[in-house]
Amino acid sequence: MPHTQIAIDGPAGAGKSTIAKLVAGELGFIYIDTGAMYRAITLKALRLKIDLTDEDAFNFVYETDFSFKDGTLFMDGEDVSEAIREDDVSNNVSLIASYISVRKKLVKMQQDLAGEKNVVMDGRDIGYHVLPDAKYKFYLTASIKKRAERRLLDNLSRGIQSDMDTIEAEIKRRDHFDSTRIHTPLKKADDAKEIDTSNLTIDEVVKLIIQNVREEEVYGF
Ligand code: C5P
Repeated sequence: MPHTQIAIDGPAGAGKSTIAKLVAGELGFIYIDTGAMYRAITLKALRLKIDLTDEDAFNFVYETDFSFKDGTLFMDGEDVSEAIREDDVSNNVSLIASYISVRKKLVKMQQDLAGEKNVVMDGRDIGYHVLPDAKYKFYLTASIKKRAERRLLDNLSRGIQSDMDTIEAEIKRRDHFDSTRIHTPLKKADDAKEIDTSNLTIDEVVKLIIQNVREEEVYGF
């Protein structure tokens, strides 16, 4: 039986990762956070101290190993889940994610991972590029104020102090870069269901997605 794929796209801070992880848990699917992969490559580039503006210096992507265990990303055997959330990574990731060579390699890995099991995958180009045949596609949005507020609270819960204006500016800058880049920019797939999460709790969005999926499944999971 072919595997079931759920694609979740949307701009930064719309709650994709938290929601995708919960949906995957509820359905017993594998969760793949593609943003984490672009972040990890950025982290590795920063550690290697290569020139970030030189796409040719990114050949190391081809020798980089990724694996997901319970939704946590391991790069070359190391749990990088905390390190990839640092400001330095957030501020540079969109540039690195705009490189076609980096995208080609990561997209191939994402497609291979999705071919093995039932998956929930979140990102920017999943519904129309990485998994165009996904059975379920969602596009999550929220107002910029809400997204910045959530990011602020998320940072606080991880002990990081930040201010709203800086976060809002960073989110806007990243969205602009992600949606205007040449190769597979942030875009809603034509057949994706859009959900505005501004006035919904995380649980409500998760329920909505699960409802949508279950309504169409004859056999259940
Ligand atoms: O999802 P997250 O905000 O962690 O993603 C970090 C960055 O990775 C995005 O701003 C975008 O530049 C890049 N990205 C991408 N394509 C994806 C997922 C993330 O270009 N499928």
